[in-house]
Amino acid sequence: GQCVMVCPTGALAERDDTDRVIDHLYDPDIVTVFQFAPAVRVGFADSLGIDNAEGQIITALRKMGADIVIDTNFAADLVIMEEGTEVVRHIRQGKRPTFTSCCPGWVNFVEKNYPDILPHLSSARSPQQCLGSLAKTYLAEKMEIDPARMRVISIMPCTAKKDEMNRPQLAKNGVPDVDVVLTIREFARLLRREGIDLAALEPGTFDNPHLGGYSGAGAIFGTTGGVMEAAVRSAYFLINGKELPNAEVTALRSFENIRTATVAVGGGLPDVNLAICHGLKAARDVVEGVLSGKYDFDFIEVMACPGGCVTGGGHLRHKKAYQAGAPKKRVTLFDIDAQRVIRQSHNNPQIQHLYSDYLGEPMSERAHHLLHTWYTDRKKEADVAVKEIRREIRLAL
Ligand code: SF4
Repeated sequence: GQCVMVCPTGALAERDDTDRVIDHLYDPDIVTVFQFAPAVRVGFADSLGIDNAEGQIITALRKMGADIVIDTNFAADLVIMEEGTEVVRHIRQGKRPTFTSCCPGWVNFVEKNYPDILPHLSSARSPQQCLGSLAKTYLAEKMEIDPARMRVISIMPCTAKKDEMNRPQLAKNGVPDVDVVLTIREFARLLRREGIDLAALEPGTFDNPHLGGYSGAGAIFGTTGGVMEAAVRSAYFLINGKELPNAEVTALRSFENIRTATVAVGGGLPDVNLAICHGLKAARDVVEGVLSGKYDFDFIEVMACPGGCVTGGGHLRHKKAYQAGAPKKRVTLFDIDAQRVIRQSHNNPQIQHLYSDYLGEPMSERAHHLLHTWYTDRKKEADVAVKEIRREIRLAL
């Protein structure tokens, strides 16, 4: 029989989307909106020796004819506002725990293996999807562009993002919010095809048209523990109306597969128990521990890749090589954070403006419609796929 292979992260099913991007770039009727994730800008450190290639990537995209280049980090700040508000609400309601939902590798894993905990996944969409959603609504409106002519193209360190963009709940009238996802590998291929040498370029800056700028909190989204640290900064502010005295929650910055911390959040609320895990084995241990009652956490950050997106399946090079470089990339993201004047998502002026101009409050009806999602129980589908693979293997033997 025909061999069917199913890879949980989508890595084996990777297809090359560079042709589609070239078609969009050369089509005069299409407005291309590019975004790239925090871990992409540190993804060229091993091969080109550029620790943070943010500026070179922007220049390269412009040279290729990109119409608008915006930063996924901006949307990371937005996700923190939404997710932070949701977590505080859950803590006040006594609903525990809340799991992060920005990693599609993890979301797929829950839908297929532990559908019972789906109600505990934050409903906030991932940064790439929030940005796609806002590009085709708010940005299109502001710039007077027909959203039907827009194509949102993401560059991601992640293969699972390719199937995330195809989720039917992340589309408007059947049109996906994100049109193409390129991995870093595909982006490198695109650069070669267009004859662009990233290392030779002068760094450029983002367009930041209405959606732009990012805080240090947005930058650390790409590494394990970053989402949690960013959320703690904003949750503290949401509860107390003043800043967390020390912006760096260093208790969460070690590299163990599962890390925990207890943080006093004030506002008359009990101390909250936080956990961070990365890699699906650690995720399984945490979920099993929560289900058995062994663990008692309020907020749990999960990333499917060991180390977070800095070791995602879409990076350049052989897995071992980039995993060896992961700690350094992680340090670079924390350095970017430390150098930002604004360290908290809620203090990003363009985030504040987006709320006052368009969204209203975090978790408002409009925010709910554009920036939140739902999940489906896919355990049966996964079980059937596993059975099918077993059957194929039996037939092949
Ligand atoms: Fe993708 Fe891995 Fe990052 Fe999850 S941790 S979003 S699977 S790169």
